[in-house]
Amino acid sequence: MKRTALVYAECADGKLRRVALEALGAARLLAGDGGSVHAVLVGGGPEAALQEAAAELAARGAGVVHVVDDPALAGFAPEAYAAVIGAAVAAVRPSVIVLGHTAAGRELAPRVAASVGGGHVADVTAIDLQGDGGADAVFTRPLYAGKAFEQRRFLPGAPGVLTVRPNNLPVAEPVAPGSEGVIAALPYPAPPLWTTVRSVVRKTGGTVDLAEADIIVAGGRGVRSAEGFAPLAALAAVLGGAVGASRGACDAGYCDYALQIGQTGKTVTPKLYIACGISGAIQHLAGMSQSRVIVAINKDPDAPIFGVADYGIVGDLFEIVPLLTEQFRTLLSKPG
Ligand SMILES: Cc1cc2nc3c(=O)[nH]c(=O)nc-3n(C[C@H](O)[C@H](O)[C@H](O)COP(=O)(O)OP(=O)(O)OC[C@H]3O[C@@H](n4cnc5c(N)ncnc54)[C@H](O)[C@@H]3O)c2cc1C
Repeated sequence: MKRTALVYAECADGKLRRVALEALGAARLLAGDGGSVHAVLVGGGPEAALQEAAAELAARGAGVVHVVDDPALAGFAPEAYAAVIGAAVAAVRPSVIVLGHTAAGRELAPRVAASVGGGHVADVTAIDLQGDGGADAVFTRPLYAGKAFEQRRFLPGAPGVLTVRPNNLPVAEPVAPGSEGVIAALPYPAPPLWTTVRSVVRKTGGTVDLAEADIIVAGGRGVRSAEGFAPLAALAAVLGGAVGASRGACDAGYCDYALQIGQTGKTVTPKLYIACGISGAIQHLAGMSQSRVIVAINKDPDAPIFGVADYGIVGDLFEIVPLLTEQFRTLLSKPG
């Protein structure tokens, strides 16, 4: 089955996000052998960074990378970005449009689906091509905080829009040298806007993006204070990971809500999730239970977090976390 797929390649600080490459991998799968894959890259300078991102997409299997570069697009403006994707849709006429299930992707995808009069499947964690030549694409997505999964497919007749959950699908691998795609400029359609972004105030300065982190050290009310997060930050630094939190910790004022993981916080799927002093309420599990390996540290042997943990350590986090940090520091500093 040949399809034309279009990817919205999301960038952060001028760099491609990993989920953009995962979306590209999904688009390549859906396009099938002989299908075509397009990417739309949006930015407002610096031009060099945008061109570098475009080259990476072309090297990883985007046949055409449509670059829309305009100062009006320097900050994320949902209406403008949706219009840009709409312009790419008009140019490409895809049967499927793929975005990352990020804050931006979640905002853009329904707008794009509505504008093309098509279906929308959000938060896809797996894609299965069934039927003759993969004609039937089946999308899996979690429900009820990961307690159940449902499978959906698009009905024929209009483009389908899907968002892929970060860290679940493989990134698009580089194509053979010589078969890279081409980069083309697409004019900014300059739509009439109802709103503009006046300013963006950053609340976190972490070097590792929580949503894309491979390792997360998360703290709950058990850390007892803002200072209580220091040992967790030290462990995260040694492991090259990010710090996250339960809502309990955020509500208590120990950390910023930008770190909150869960039903009303961020959804994360790292390779390793270390939960420190977190009870494991269902609303917290909703955001992290899909992590590949979960380690829980809790004083209470009956804490529900142990029900989802692969490894559990019963004890005081203020003793255990520094011990782990020292062990990892020693192990990771050894050559080889
Ligand atoms: C509509 C709604 C949405 C919600 N959304 C979210 C969400 O997105 N994310 C979220 O996290 N919660 C969410 N919640 C809140 C959720 O129900 C819990 O209240 C919250 O997750 C509890 O946080 P906690 O586990 O850090 O705190 P607690 O439940 O107080 O647990 C603290 C844990 O730390 C352990 N502990 C204490 N001291 C130590 C120590 N020294 N060493 C080791 N362990 C220790 C205790 O044994 C305990 O298990 C939501 C609730 C509602 C109603």
